[in-house]
Amino acid sequence: MKILNGAALSKKIKSVLAIEIDYLVKKHGRAPKLCIVLTGDDPASTSYVKSKQKSCNEIGILCDLRLLPYATSQDELLALIEVLNNDPETDGILVQLPLPKHIDQNVVLQAIDYKKDADGLHPMNVGLLNRSDDAIIPCTPKGILSLLKAEDIPITGKHCVVIGRSNLVGKPMAQLMLRENASVTVCHSKTRDLPHLTRQGEILIIAIGHPNLLHADMLKKGAVVVDVGINSVDGKLVGDLYNSIDVQDIEKKAAAITPVPGGVGPMTVASLLENVVEIYKRRCAV
Ligand code: NAP
Repeated sequence: MKILNGAALSKKIKSVLAIEIDYLVKKHGRAPKLCIVLTGDDPASTSYVKSKQKSCNEIGILCDLRLLPYATSQDELLALIEVLNNDPETDGILVQLPLPKHIDQNVVLQAIDYKKDADGLHPMNVGLLNRSDDAIIPCTPKGILSLLKAEDIPITGKHCVVIGRSNLVGKPMAQLMLRENASVTVCHSKTRDLPHLTRQGEILIIAIGHPNLLHADMLKKGAVVVDVGINSVDGKLVGDLYNSIDVQDIEKKAAAITPVPGGVGPMTVASLLENVVEIYKRRCAV
């Protein structure tokens, strides 16, 4: 069983980007800039934001971190987004999710200028991706695709089964795999006879947000398995693929697996950096 090492590829992508940014700064006289807006102090979100900020700093992207209190109103957040939309120095805007319960996430994501939408979650980018057009692609699915391609995993004509249909991961992942000429099945919590479908997955992508669902008898022999999940079990970070019964049998049956940590997570950050540089280049070109 091969380990698909997202941490190593992410490092490589970052060093290539750092060289490109160095060249771009000389050419355009300014560095790319990402503004991250974090509302509240959720520990997981704070840790993700810190990791994104650190990665930006490492490769020469300016990172403007806006920390807002949990009690920030929707109107206050929308007012900040408008300022950032109109700020010529800000290339990418990322609103860290989840937002406090009193704020409508869809309204906020839609308020971001879609040309500055570093996370690719604006409805315009969702539509462009669905049309296989020139979209800014959500970071986690984009990172997974980059990893599969870098590892020379064939996609065309393969049956890809995606478990999870969130706007953040499952749906854009399915669209991307379709664009890459896979035949795609999307499963969710109301799917009947999940094992019948997962057993057909030559590429199986699991993004459900809890462990203990998948067992070895639900897997096609030789499947490539991508584990998106981030869960804590007994204080240990594990993916959605983790189970307490036959995780070793899953590893024996699969041809390749993304580890947690060190698989999809670092690729998500690398893809965010790529998105920011892409947005910057598009803005400098006009
Ligand atoms: P989400 O919005 O909660 O969506 C979970 C999806 O899984 C839903 O579509 C749900 O179905 C489906 N699901 C839940 N239980 C299921 C079951 N028993 N059988 C089949 N489908 C089931 O989560 P998300 O944002 O997509 O994230 C998923 C996981 O990935 C989380 O652990 C998250 O932390 C992780 N994540 C990791 C990264 C990274 O960079 N590594 C990035 C993003 C997310 P319904 O639609 O029917 O409810």
